[in-house]
Amino acid sequence: MTSSARPLLNRRLAEFGTTIFAEMSALALQTGSINLGQGFPDTDGPDEVREAAVRALRDGHGNQYPPGPGIPELRGAVAAHQRRRYGLSYDPDREVLVTAGATEAIAASLLALLEPGDEVIAFEPYYDSYAACIAMAGGTRVPVTLRPDDDGFRLNLDELRDAVTDRTRLLLINSPHNPTGTVLTREELTAIAELAVERDLLVVTDEVYEHLVFDDAEHLPLATFPGMRERTVTIGSAGKSFSFTGWKVGWVTGAPDLVAAVRSAKQFLTYVASGPFQYAVAEALRLPDSYFADFRADMLAKRDLLAGGLEQAGFKVFRPAGTYFITTDIRPLGESDGFTFCRALPERCGVVAIPNAVFYDHREQGAPFVRFAFCKRTGVLEEAASRLKTLAA
Ligand code: PMP
Ligand code: GLN
Repeated sequence: MTSSARPLLNRRLAEFGTTIFAEMSALALQTGSINLGQGFPDTDGPDEVREAAVRALRDGHGNQYPPGPGIPELRGAVAAHQRRRYGLSYDPDREVLVTAGATEAIAASLLALLEPGDEVIAFEPYYDSYAACIAMAGGTRVPVTLRPDDDGFRLNLDELRDAVTDRTRLLLINSPHNPTGTVLTREELTAIAELAVERDLLVVTDEVYEHLVFDDAEHLPLATFPGMRERTVTIGSAGKSFSFTGWKVGWVTGAPDLVAAVRSAKQFLTYVASGPFQYAVAEALRLPDSYFADFRADMLAKRDLLAGGLEQAGFKVFRPAGTYFITTDIRPLGESDGFTFCRALPERCGVVAIPNAVFYDHREQGAPFVRFAFCKRTGVLEEAASRLKTLAA
């Protein structure tokens, strides 16, 4: 322990504390509760992908430092995936970068592209690492709040336009959106793209839930909109798309100057990561369309199962158009503070959830909202639903 009066943790990080995911997963373990807090699947992704990782390990592929930008096989597979699914063409050598999960992609993008004092606009509630990474880069976050109506949490385009100032450098977009499940529409994305072009803004778009869109929602990458390819860094994740969150394989696609900038920061963070897993993810990205269709159908059934259970338990449910999270409003249960509710929930019925307030700068705006993850086995969701129903009694 230093005797200096100065706090050890610097001012940029002091406000963040321990992530809510660590806190709530620990609470789940400690109380033996069903963990619908942290978003990770309780079953692994496809066997053939896992076997590809075993093979890579055994054959000595990736056991030593892989190339800094990622192995060519994976960069090629990322480029082929973007072309096949979205008609976006990227040069695997200059326009694709492999990262240690989407988390590092976000961190490296912000560290690379921001000068201290630059403003970054992000939708509130936002994924917790956004605020911390903007802070580490010395930027200033400017939240634009998604507000609930019967249709879910929606963006107000006028508020977004009004948030842009002469100091705005970057829009940090996330669609499908964690934690609300909102999927931006073609009209909204068109307006965002027009604004970015008009105000000459960079865009970092976190599309890790690209394969999880339901009903008639469609995932449209921002980079496909006019004027966007040259100003957009797009982020994907094997953790989310293939249910291997522990492997920490993510990627960035973008124009060569943007990817070079992100690589400059990334090389001094992890330098490289996940060697053998990169080989496996290269195979995963080439899985046939049926894999992605089955993945989506499975999650859709789980969404409906948990949403039904939450409704019966008395929650107001915002049925998500994407992701594997459901945001609920706890006020119909006579509750108003999500923190208090989530800390008591394990005792009350053996289920863990996340208070959405942690994803807000304006905490009061998020107070009555609570997030449940449905990327769990059907039996687990059924048991959670039956436990939650005791709240209605
Ligand atoms: N972005 C969003 C919106 C997320 O929900 C997550 C977390 N799961 C990440 C990024 C981080 O992804 P990864 O596990 O690939 O680092
Ligand atoms: N993205 C996951 C979630 O929102 C958690 C990832 C993490 O724990 N950092 O639940």
